[in-house]
Amino acid sequence: MSAGFVTIMQPPSSPISSLSEAIARCQSLGMRLSRQRRYILELLWDLQEHLSARAIYDELNHRGKKIGHTSVYQNLEALFEHGIIECVERSDGRLYGHLNSAHSHVNCVDSQKIIDINIELPSTVIHEVEQRTGLKITGYRIDFFGTTNGVQPEKQ
Ligand SMILES: [Zn+2]
Repeated sequence: MSAGFVTIMQPPSSPISSLSEAIARCQSLGMRLSRQRRYILELLWDLQEHLSARAIYDELNHRGKKIGHTSVYQNLEALFEHGIIECVERSDGRLYGHLNSAHSHVNCVDSQKIIDINIELPSTVIHEVEQRTGLKITGYRIDFFGTTNGVQPEKQ
């Protein structure tokens, strides 16, 4: 499996930067904020990983939050459709993450983990893409792929 990662485009929505903002966004969109829906948002913001519906279901039940399988699926889809969370399509199913804004991913091919990263392309690159396509670039996402061996991460 090499190129099995696709982020599904969300409807445009302004960036959400905290759990409380995510909850406020649900309310402003008129979404019913059930206990189950709140549990899911709390978990995604707590773990800040990209997780399958199955993994979210398992983790919530592990934490003693009673929620059914179908409810997890339905809530994740509703949150994604309203632009509150992200969804990544992989060959083995969908993963959900807490970030709703445009960001790039670093995919570890060893662990299958996805790391969120904000990275800006040099304007020369954007310009070249515009020149080649005739389109005005308004946003982008990059998928990096990497392995765990070799590189020491820089201290931030
Ligand atoms: Zn992400």
